[in-house]
Amino acid sequence: MSAALDIRVPQHLSRTLWEEVRRLNSYEPVIFGLVSEAKTPGRRLALVRELIIPPQDAFVRTSGHGAKWTAAYNIELINRALEKSLGIVIFHYHGGGRVQLSADDKQSARKLLPTFQSVLPTRPHGSVVLGDGSVTGMLLMPGERSYAEKMTLRLHASSIEILGGAAVPSTPLLDGLGTVAEIAAVKSRLERACVAIVGLSGGGSQVATKLATFGVGEIIGIDPQRVSADNLLATDELGWPDVLLRLRKTGAVKTRVWWTNRAVHFTPVNAAVPEPKALEGLKRADVIIGCVNNLAARSDIQEIAWRYCIPYIDIGLTLRPSEPTNPQSRLSHISGNVFTAIPGGACLWCTGFLSEKALAGEAGGANRAYLRSALVAQAGHEQRVFVATFNATIAALAASTAFQILVGYASDPPILRIYDGMNGLVSEMTTIKKSDCPKCTANLCAGDLLWQ
Ligand SMILES: [Zn+2]
Ligand SMILES: [Zn+2]
Repeated sequence: MSAALDIRVPQHLSRTLWEEVRRLNSYEPVIFGLVSEAKTPGRRLALVRELIIPPQDAFVRTSGHGAKWTAAYNIELINRALEKSLGIVIFHYHGGGRVQLSADDKQSARKLLPTFQSVLPTRPHGSVVLGDGSVTGMLLMPGERSYAEKMTLRLHASSIEILGGAAVPSTPLLDGLGTVAEIAAVKSRLERACVAIVGLSGGGSQVATKLATFGVGEIIGIDPQRVSADNLLATDELGWPDVLLRLRKTGAVKTRVWWTNRAVHFTPVNAAVPEPKALEGLKRADVIIGCVNNLAARSDIQEIAWRYCIPYIDIGLTLRPSEPTNPQSRLSHISGNVFTAIPGGACLWCTGFLSEKALAGEAGGANRAYLRSALVAQAGHEQRVFVATFNATIAALAASTAFQILVGYASDPPILRIYDGMNGLVSEMTTIKKSDCPKCTANLCAGDLLWQ
């Protein structure tokens, strides 16, 4: 069987695409997507980097169905794609439940796509028609001569909308309150979902069992370490037998997940980001939850999430002593964060959460925030700090957010939740994408690295 085909559109382009293809006009509106490509185990991806809305005067009147544009505009389009080394996908809309390409659509695709492929052989090219909840088309993947017609289109907004997949209701749903079809759709969406968790200590181990209760089809747990005694005050999902048996965290969490819901498949990855095995696991996830304690790993996870157009939820808990230089100091702050980064929205770099300076500081040990937590750890405070319940709060927030993203009613716009563990308060902040963020520009929907 050939790999499933998925076209992914990041948040900042999703609305434009959807609105423009449905614009009423004298001609059938088309939009061009400039796309990169990626392979993940089981899937081939076409990732939309850019949209081009052609000007009215590019079109020529035609008696048949569909749009026709001038030869001059076609050359301009190919040049723009060549300049960026990206493929060309033509999008238009037919409406209705189950869409089909018309005979005219097919004829023009057979003429145009091989031309595009001969100019840019390393990228996918296609003609795709959107319906209300469905999608079909003709895609010519690199190195292939026959057209793929079966695909899904993943529109990222605060939640993921999948055209060509199971339709899900747009409002919160409790089992027993929705219609039978709605509940079945939500269950099926969850069963097909794959969530990767990086780090299975205090936060990640608790995220895993919460995801298992939802019936997420596959959980990929990424962590190279074995369970140690200091983990026991950080989570109730790792226990003394795990320490005694010196179990790997992946093994211990796998058992917990099985006890919670044996229909969930847990895939253990005993590696740390950015080792290749860990990156392979991340690439095939629908949502990534990062539960790591350093900025370097966050930076790597962020890059993968953006390259492959995957929502990334980052959690962290920081303890701050009231006197940073005194190892005997009391704690003054327990603060947690749950940052939801939707591809096309703000990334960790846009908001200043990650910066070259902070990364360099972490590497050199000069970062103050990191130093504070390092001091606490060095003083042996970590073993005596009861953080399991504080981790539980942010783990629950992260798992709920993943659930919302997967089944379709996440908050809009995405938010940063700050948890004040001392006072038991959760506050929310909206995150804003920086239009000139160099990491978003370089990585968003960039796909696999292209060696030419
Ligand atoms: Zn058409
Ligand atoms: Zn950014």
